[in-house]
Amino acid sequence: MKIARFDDNRLGLVEGDQVKDVTAALDILPRVGYPLPLHDPLIAHLDAVCAEIRRLAPNAQALPLAGRTWLAPVANPGKIVAAPVNYQKHLDEAREQVEIHHNNQVIEIQKIGLFLKATSSLVGPSAGVAIEHLDRRNDHEAELVVIIGQGGRNISRANAMRHVAAYTSGLDMTVRGPEERSLRKSVDSYSVLGPWLVTADEIPHPDQMDFSLHVNGELRQKANTRDLILDIPHLIEFASSFYTLRTGDLLYTGTPEGVAQVHPGDVITTSFVGIGDMTVAVRSSK
Ligand code: MN
Repeated sequence: MKIARFDDNRLGLVEGDQVKDVTAALDILPRVGYPLPLHDPLIAHLDAVCAEIRRLAPNAQALPLAGRTWLAPVANPGKIVAAPVNYQKHLDEAREQVEIHHNNQVIEIQKIGLFLKATSSLVGPSAGVAIEHLDRRNDHEAELVVIIGQGGRNISRANAMRHVAAYTSGLDMTVRGPEERSLRKSVDSYSVLGPWLVTADEIPHPDQMDFSLHVNGELRQKANTRDLILDIPHLIEFASSFYTLRTGDLLYTGTPEGVAQVHPGDVITTSFVGIGDMTVAVRSSK
């Protein structure tokens, strides 16, 4: 099932070139009060929401995909985990280009591990990316994103896929420079997510997914997730050996070669087979 959040916090079922408004399915979510839960309530009740969507869909209003405002499909992730240099050819280009590495030593993911992006950097595709530090190189990074279902600590590789609720696509936008990744990749709007989530049952082979990224129609990145250095089970095992993964946490799995600069006025489009296409406009934050 492809589930979107769109327009004025509507919930949608995406089918072909239409989205059905199934916002009433959210009524089954428990009311929450302060202190707020440390997980995402929609993902925590995803099975029940999906059942309610199936019940509502036959009588739901269908809208064209075109013209919708797409929000991040996970509204309240507890954390955004991200994998650096997780494709060999991107590791190679990062080591070769001073504009990427800025005299930082580019260390293999097995040694440097993972990093976190601020949840305040999360936006949906229609919000677009607002470039900060226009004097610096600001790059696109297309990435498959895993949405964690059941949480856990010290999850083994063998059990890891049971903890995946859904997939979506993402942009790990990046200001190049000498600072820590978590700072340079946590600028407001630098974690794009969408255009909708796809439940894990519809993606039987996330480890064989073709995807690409274009800027203004020009191909920049083209890869397949089979070339991940650390695959999804390994990333989940690695992350959960340091901290508890919670329901709704996002895992950006890393970007392949072809990262390059974007400028205000550019339009980024990503295409992930089995998920769909995402269009993101770039502007200046000023
Ligand atoms: Mn990245």
